[in-house]
Amino acid sequence: MNLDVNRQRLIAEIEELASISDAEAPAVTRIVFTPTDLKARAWLISHCEKAGLAVRQDPVGNIFARWAGTEPGAPAVGTGSHIDAIPNAGKYDGVVGVLGGLEAIRSLERSGFRPKHSIELLVFTSEEPTRFGIGCLGSRLLSGSMSPDAARKLEDKQGFSMEEVRRKAGCHGSLEEVKLPDGYFKAFVELHIEQGPLLEQQKVPIGIVTNIAAPASLRVSIEGAGGHAGGVLMPDRRDALCAAAELVLAVENAARTSGAPDTVATVGICEVFPGAVNSIPSKVQLSVDIRDTCLERRDAVLCAIEAARQAIAGKRHVSIREKLLNADMPAQCEPSITKALSDSAAKHNLPFVPMVSRAYHDSLFMSRIAPVGMLFIPCRNGYSHRPDEYASPEDISRGVIVLAETLVTLAA
Ligand SMILES: [Zn+2]
Repeated sequence: MNLDVNRQRLIAEIEELASISDAEAPAVTRIVFTPTDLKARAWLISHCEKAGLAVRQDPVGNIFARWAGTEPGAPAVGTGSHIDAIPNAGKYDGVVGVLGGLEAIRSLERSGFRPKHSIELLVFTSEEPTRFGIGCLGSRLLSGSMSPDAARKLEDKQGFSMEEVRRKAGCHGSLEEVKLPDGYFKAFVELHIEQGPLLEQQKVPIGIVTNIAAPASLRVSIEGAGGHAGGVLMPDRRDALCAAAELVLAVENAARTSGAPDTVATVGICEVFPGAVNSIPSKVQLSVDIRDTCLERRDAVLCAIEAARQAIAGKRHVSIREKLLNADMPAQCEPSITKALSDSAAKHNLPFVPMVSRAYHDSLFMSRIAPVGMLFIPCRNGYSHRPDEYASPEDISRGVIVLAETLVTLAA
C-alpha cells in the first residue's frame, strides 16, 4: 500500500480554517458556538462530505464523519481532536488532529485500502474551557464522565445556559443521547502538537504518548479581617494575604516533595480584596491546579494541601474554604495502540520517543470508553495557545503518515 500525504492541500486547509477567526491573523480566536465557530464547523463538514464521509452531529455538537468499513456493524476506529481555540491562540492546537485526521483518511482512500472497521473522524465540542468554564465538554459527555444534568447547569459569562446556547446553535435532541454505547469504539487515536519543547530539543519528529496526566483544580477563598494599614498593630492582624502566601508555598512544597517529577502544582490566580496600598487584605481568592500521571500521588498532594489549609487557618485565625472544581482520572494509553503507533513510525523510518502528555486532551475522557493512543509532533519552542504557535509542514505530514498507517493496523 502506498500512503502519501497531500501536504500542500492540508497546509492550505489549516490556513483557511485559521482565517475563520474572531482575532486578527496570525492569532486565532474561535469560541464554541459563536457565529465564527459555526462557520468553521460548516466549512469542516463540507470538506468531510467532499471526502465521501457520512457526517452526523450529536446533541452537544460533537461531529462524527464516518468512512463505513466492510463490516459496518463492527466497533469503529476513531481519530480526531478539536477546532475551538482560546482567545488569541494559534492555528495548530487541535486543528492538526482534525484536518490531519481527515487527510489521513483521504490518503487511505487514495491508496485503495478498504477498512473492515469503520473509521470515524471526531471533532469534539468545546475542548477549551473558555465559554463554559470546563474543558473537554463534548468528550466528557460522550464518555459519560459528566452527567447531562451537570452539563445543562453550565452557563457562560453572559448568563446563557449551555442548553440554550447549543439549541440556538442548531444542536437538537436531548443531552442524554450523547453518551456512546459501550464498545462503540475499538480504538481511538489523537494526533496533536506537543505543546511543549521536548521533541524539538531532542530533534525527534514523533512522540508516542504512554500516559495522560490529569488535573485536579481547587478554588480557595480566604477570609480574615481588614483594617487600616497604619492603625492595626501586628499582633491583632488576621491578614488574608499572609495566610494565602503560606498556602501557596504549601502547594508548591506538596508537589516538590511528592517523590516524582510528574507531579506539578500551580497557583495561577490570586485576587486580593480590597486591593489598596493602605488596607489590610481581608479576602483572597486563589486557584490551585494540580496534575499528575498517578492518581494516588495527585490525591496525596490534595491531602497535603488540605492539612496545610487547616493548620494555617488555625494558626492565623482566618477562615479558609476550599472548593474542588474537578478531579479527573489520569489515563494510560493502550499498549497495543502505542505499539501500532511505534511500528508505523518505524515503517516510515521516523524516530520516536515515548512521552507523557502533561496537558490534557479529549483522549483522557475517551479512555473511559475506548482503548486510546496519542501521538505528538513538535511545535516551535514548545509554544502553544499563542499566535506564534507553529508546526512545520514536514512535521505535520510525518504525524499524518504515522496516523494513517496506524489506522490501517487498527481498522484492518
Ligand atoms: Zn488541543
